[in-house]
Amino acid sequence: MPEHLSDPVSSGADVRITCGHCGFEEDWTPAALARHLAEIGGSQRWAELTRHLRCRRFGCGATTLDAVPLPPGSRPANMPRRIGRLDAHLLSAALAVLEGVTQRSHGQAVATLEVRLALLVVHRYARDRDCVRRFWLRAADGNRTVDAGLAEPLQLIRHRLVAAGWLAPPVLLEPARTWPWDSPAPPGWKAPAAVATRPDEQA
Ligand SMILES: [Zn+2]
Repeated sequence: MPEHLSDPVSSGADVRITCGHCGFEEDWTPAALARHLAEIGGSQRWAELTRHLRCRRFGCGATTLDAVPLPPGSRPANMPRRIGRLDAHLLSAALAVLEGVTQRSHGQAVATLEVRLALLVVHRYARDRDCVRRFWLRAADGNRTVDAGLAEPLQLIRHRLVAAGWLAPPVLLEPARTWPWDSPAPPGWKAPAAVATRPDEQA
């Protein structure tokens, strides 16, 4: 394990931050992580890299994070995880169909050929027959109660696709909390002044 973020061992390699609570992984380039740590007053010593970071998966925010250097070229540093363009198109089209149908499905059967095709696509990626079957059975039932809507099986399908790495999980867009007071920002908080001056620096 390197001593410092700028060590030769880690230079050229990316840094993977893994959440010990939910398993969410995020890959950073050392430069981006160094910039982020500088912004929030965190240390770049390897042992303290994650001390002021929080899991960025929406709804988690845990502080039990681990940092490991990735061998160069193992996976591009990215968010969302990069998948093939055809896979991305197929899945986004399939999910658009299922979402549309979920919205107009109340009180009517919507088990159309279109939905079937979308579910076949989902099945290929999620590799989970149950979530697909569940959606299909409910879609075919025109006498559903409000509680037995399609939103829940759709949620399950999304969950499976995220777990399998095909969909990026929703992340918090705010990378660090901004210190709201006039006093100096403590470690882990971004100073408001730094936020205000950033666009000027880049211009
Ligand atoms: Zn987490």
